[in-house]
Amino acid sequence: MRGRFAGEIIEPGDAGYDQARIVWNAIVDRHPALVVRPTSVDDVVSAIQFAHDKDLVVAVRGGAHSVAGFSTCDGGMVIDLSGMRAVAVDPNRKRATAQGGAHLSKLDKSAQAHGLVCPVGVVGHTGVAGLTLGGGMGRLQRKLGLTIDNLESVNLVTAAGERLRASEEENSDLFWGLRGAGANFGVATSFEFKLHPFGGTIFQGMVAFPVERSLEVAEQVREFVATHADVHTALAFTKMEDLGGRPVFVVGSTHAGSVDEAERDLRVFRELLPLVDTFGAKPYLEVQGMADESSGWGQRFYTKAGFLAHLNDEVISLCAELVETIPAGAELSLWAQGGAIGRISDDAMAYTGRDAPFNISAELAWTDPADDEERIAWGRAAIAKVKPFMTAGRYVNDVSEAGTDGAQIYGAAKYQRLVALKRKYDPENFFRLNQNIKP
Ligand SMILES: Cc1cc2nc3c(=O)[nH]c(=O)nc-3n(C[C@H](O)[C@H](O)[C@H](O)COP(=O)(O)OP(=O)(O)OC[C@H]3O[C@@H](n4cnc5c(N)ncnc54)[C@H](O)[C@@H]3O)c2cc1C
Repeated sequence: MRGRFAGEIIEPGDAGYDQARIVWNAIVDRHPALVVRPTSVDDVVSAIQFAHDKDLVVAVRGGAHSVAGFSTCDGGMVIDLSGMRAVAVDPNRKRATAQGGAHLSKLDKSAQAHGLVCPVGVVGHTGVAGLTLGGGMGRLQRKLGLTIDNLESVNLVTAAGERLRASEEENSDLFWGLRGAGANFGVATSFEFKLHPFGGTIFQGMVAFPVERSLEVAEQVREFVATHADVHTALAFTKMEDLGGRPVFVVGSTHAGSVDEAERDLRVFRELLPLVDTFGAKPYLEVQGMADESSGWGQRFYTKAGFLAHLNDEVISLCAELVETIPAGAELSLWAQGGAIGRISDDAMAYTGRDAPFNISAELAWTDPADDEERIAWGRAAIAKVKPFMTAGRYVNDVSEAGTDGAQIYGAAKYQRLVALKRKYDPENFFRLNQNIKP
């Protein structure tokens, strides 16, 4: 392979091996037979060919943030795209092209250098690839849609080593599947995104209330979300360290309008006299990077999530009850959808759940392996209690358990369509380290 592969090849025993085999979630501890770092599409083709020849299972890695650990493996080959992280912006066409290993921070910074933006997630070191192929939720989702709603095309190398372009015009069936189930069909070597004019300042922050006031505050939240369809609204139930571990109900928001508009719109929450208030005008890139350190590599992490049919008082009361037993470093997070997300038909792409008003996730981070069982059990039990309030679909990037039934993630009809696509583009299930669509 070394003769026809320009990038790095790392094997057990090599100096960089232990660094190369790990992924973001420290729970995942696997030992691949080799990690290869392509520097070009030709290298990707060579790597796929070699894995075929040697019958190696393949893990594809963008930013390595898969909570389930799909971007590493035992005994197989990791195709690590960290040698392909470039982002190019065409300000005239308002388009960005990101290579398959690019980080969100690079896309954010490159676009903002031209006064433009693509809506992406909230932690800069997350991979553009994995985030986009699953959907892409973020602070601008109600204003500009999910990341996939701004995806123009994907260049892909298939299991057969074929180079394909998928867009609304070319291989449109594949393009449909890539937007929500995209880790199943090949190695994405580049993505083209639509960009939007966007100033460098955003109004962002949160207000926190004693959890006992959840129902009263939730009434305002429902009204706010219904009347401000473009404003990002993210709720959380957690124990706040700064308040001595007191259980709180947090209302977070990112308002992309003018500072005056944001002050006016969000006043309703300030007038409720919160315990904490961090709302203010901030540089967009600073906001996009503010969780990078607290969400750094090496922590242990579990999440379980689903879409809510309503944000009614029963759900709020249940969350308020659950937060009483929530472990340190954990939260129940509820993100409003609607707005630009809801303006696209749920059938338009593989991503399933865009009609739901909220996504809810239990997110748990910790460091001691001795806590693994307890933290994971808490997350599972919490979401099991919320399940009666959930509606169809799951956000695939929030599904931590490998082997989850695809029909649960995409619904039965879409899953059948995805199976047909898988049979067409990857009939031997070469790309199977993902929430797998079985051909
Ligand atoms: C700290 C943190 C913050 C997050 N924040 C958000 C957020 O704000 N919004 C949101 O929507 N999600 C968020 N997520 C979830 C995140 O979108 C998913 O974990 C996503 O899959 C990560 O992509 P990645 O490229 O970093 O991961 P990887 O582990 O590299 O890959 C994830 C999956 O995509 C596949 N894949 C990766 N690169 C390619 C490629 N080039 N071609 C084909 N397949 C590929 C992998 O095989 C794997 O199945 C977050 C996750 C973490 C850990």
